[in-house]
Amino acid sequence: MNRSDDLFTTDFRAEPYWWNEFRPAPLQGSDPGRSHDVAVVGGGYAGLAVALEVARHGLSVVVLEAGLFGDGASTRSGGALSAGLSIGKSLTGKALDYPPEVVDMVVGWARDSFAHLERFIEREHIDCHFERRGRFLGACAPHHYQWLQARFDKLQRSGAKDCWLIGREQQREEIGSDYYHGGLVFNAAAKLHPALLYQGYLRACQRHPAITLVDQSRVQRLARDGSGWALDTGRGRFSARQVAVCTNGYTDNLVPRLHHRLVPVASHIIVTDEIPPALARRISPNGRTFSETRRIMHYFRLTPDGRRVLFGGRSRFTTTPFELNARLLHAGLVRRFPELAEVRVARAWQGNVAFSGDALPHAGEFDGVHYVAACCGGGITVMPYLGTQVGLKIAGAIKGPTDFDRVTLPRIPFYRGKPWFLPMVGTAFRLADYVDENLR
Ligand SMILES: Cc1cc2nc3c(=O)[nH]c(=O)nc-3n(C[C@H](O)[C@H](O)[C@H](O)COP(=O)(O)OP(=O)(O)OC[C@H]3O[C@@H](n4cnc5c(N)ncnc54)[C@H](O)[C@@H]3O)c2cc1C
Repeated sequence: MNRSDDLFTTDFRAEPYWWNEFRPAPLQGSDPGRSHDVAVVGGGYAGLAVALEVARHGLSVVVLEAGLFGDGASTRSGGALSAGLSIGKSLTGKALDYPPEVVDMVVGWARDSFAHLERFIEREHIDCHFERRGRFLGACAPHHYQWLQARFDKLQRSGAKDCWLIGREQQREEIGSDYYHGGLVFNAAAKLHPALLYQGYLRACQRHPAITLVDQSRVQRLARDGSGWALDTGRGRFSARQVAVCTNGYTDNLVPRLHHRLVPVASHIIVTDEIPPALARRISPNGRTFSETRRIMHYFRLTPDGRRVLFGGRSRFTTTPFELNARLLHAGLVRRFPELAEVRVARAWQGNVAFSGDALPHAGEFDGVHYVAACCGGGITVMPYLGTQVGLKIAGAIKGPTDFDRVTLPRIPFYRGKPWFLPMVGTAFRLADYVDENLR
């Protein structure tokens, strides 16, 4: 398929596939009160989780969202989650070394946040197609399979029992592709419909009398006001005793210390037209989610009805026209599944994630402002979990410094919030991936 008009279905839309079931829309509401115990900036999973937790502890809270509720990354993701976290790789590809207690702590957050989300979905009866189907991590070169073997051995030594290696010869039991050189299966992984999950968070907030939601109200200025805070928005001034900023990949200069420590990175997704059921079963015989060992990696899965392929990746690290992303992603899809060469693209979209200098998610406090930030690519489980922890801290249910306060969001040398280096990082990664996969 070469021409642009051949690539897209006749009903193509440049918006998340997930918005078929939940589309961000303006909230109807009366004039919100101006003074609250807590103000939350940003209405994604993290911000709503903070609000739910502080409200549960009897505090009044306003959530101020720049756009519509659900405009951010939380309704735009691939919907893949796992109870593990791959740590140690920075955005620049530099291998990072953490003290063992930090590794244990972060691995613990990943495990706890997965369980926390499962409980929330159950408690709130959220029908978001949550399915524990496991994840296949494909090796993109023969020596990547050796890395996976080493990782598997380490996991075994630490007592992990729910993962196993798959050699190239059995790979078709897991995936309808010969692209990979074997892989590693993680059983403790799941998939869901991210926008229906978001709708569940939003409805839980809307049901709570102590929570006020205000959309189309970008916080332009945040300043100390006596013992509390004043927040200026296009809809006037709000005040609160405590503030949490949960803006992740959309962080602006509202809190410069946060802005200068987060690198926003665009991530892109396409969803194909419907494919025959037998082909879908061949592509994903066990209904798993898929990711891979490349630096510029792709992730994919079937949609909840099992009839389309969702294929994503950081085809470019920056916001780029959807036609270009769709073409690049479609080419990547066909390299893995040549049978899909003639299948068209029904949806294409993008959204922002945020990376920290140490490639870890963070929650903490800068000059009295609480924050949750740096999902580092995967935040469906960890961002609401950290939001809940920050909520507990604000409500006084956790006293003193938390585990999260022990790992400070680091400064990034020579960086002031404008990621000028991303195109260069992207080119270097593409080159390194090419060498790895073709010349070694
Ligand atoms: C394409 C894509 C694919 C992804 N795939 C996966 C996946 O498969 N698995 C996974 O675990 N994670 C995935 N993620 C990451 C996941 O979606 C995010 O980690 C998570 O949604 C972050 O939630 P959040 O609440 O921190 O931020 P967001 O949902 O981005 O919310 C932040 C909000 O802050 C608002 N805001 C910003 N500045 C201001 C201001 N000054 N005033 C008021 N409001 C403001 C923004 O408008 C935005 O709505 C993906 C992300 C993208 C973009």
